[in-house]
Amino acid sequence: MKKMIYYLEMSVLIALMISCKFTESDLKKETGDMKMKSKVLYEELLPDEFIERINACPIAYLPLGTMEWHGLHLPLGSDGLQSKGFFMALAEEVGGIVLPMLFLGPDGTVKELDLNEFSYIGMEYRSFEEGHLQQLEGNAYYVDQEVFIKMLESIMWSLSRTGFKIVVAHGHGPSNSAFHHSIEKLEKQFGLKLYDLGMIGLHGPQGIQTDHAAYSETSLMMRIRPELVDIGKITNDENMTGISGIDPRNRASYEEGDKIIAANLAIVSEKLKKDLSEMSWEKREIKHTHVKKIYRDQ
Ligand SMILES: [Zn+2]
Repeated sequence: MKKMIYYLEMSVLIALMISCKFTESDLKKETGDMKMKSKVLYEELLPDEFIERINACPIAYLPLGTMEWHGLHLPLGSDGLQSKGFFMALAEEVGGIVLPMLFLGPDGTVKELDLNEFSYIGMEYRSFEEGHLQQLEGNAYYVDQEVFIKMLESIMWSLSRTGFKIVVAHGHGPSNSAFHHSIEKLEKQFGLKLYDLGMIGLHGPQGIQTDHAAYSETSLMMRIRPELVDIGKITNDENMTGISGIDPRNRASYEEGDKIIAANLAIVSEKLKKDLSEMSWEKREIKHTHVKKIYRDQ
C-alpha cells in the first residue's frame, strides 16, 4: 500500500513538472530578481554587510510605531509597518540601514476623575463624544513620553558612535511629534542630522501616514502589506470607530498607496542624496586585536 502511494505521489510530481514548463531562463530570471533586492534590515545583516552599507551611506531609518487600534480593517501595528515599508524602499534607492521598529510609543492621555488612576489613551478620547470615552481593543503598548525620549537619546547616542550621520524617523503621530520636538537638542547632543518625513516628504493626503486608519494609512497598508488588510470588516457607518480622515471604503487602494510611496520616494531620496553629496565620513572596518579566548573547545 505504502509503495502504491509513493508511485502515485511520484507520478503526480512528474506531471506537475511537465505542466509547469519551468525553463532554465525562468530560473535565471527568478534568482536574478532575488539578487537585485539588497538586504536593508539591520537585524538581517552580518557585521561585514553592516559595515559595507554604513561606509557607502551612513543613514539610519527608524520606523516609529505603537500598537493601537487602527479601525477594524487594519492591523494593530500599522504605524510601524508603514514606515518600515517606506524606509525599506528608501534604503533600496538611497542606501543606509533600516532599524527595527520602535513599537513602544507615547500618546495623549485623559484621566477620568471617577475612575481614579484609569486613563484613556490617544484615539480612545479622540474617537468618542465627551463623557463617553471607551477603551479601544489592542491599545496595549503605551509608554510615557519621558521614557520614550530617554529611549530616543540612547538610540541616537549609539547610532552616532557607530558612525551614522543622518537619522530619518517616522510613524505613529505622537511618537513623531515627540521626536520632532527633540530634534534640535538631539542634533546638538550627538552630532547627527535628523529628519522626520513631515520635514522632507509631502504633506496632506499625499504624505506618508497623515491620517488615522483612513485613506492614507489604508492605501499604504494595501500597498505594503495587502495580506494584513480586510476592508470588508467595515460593514457600516457604525463601525468606523477611530477612523479619522478621508473615508477609506471607496478611496483607499493599492494603486493610491503606490502613488503616495512613489511621489514621496522621489522627493525624499533627492534631499538625502544632496545631503550625502555635501558630507564626508570616516570609513569603518572590522579590525580586532587582543582577542580573548572566551569560547570552549567542547
Ligand atoms: Zn497610524
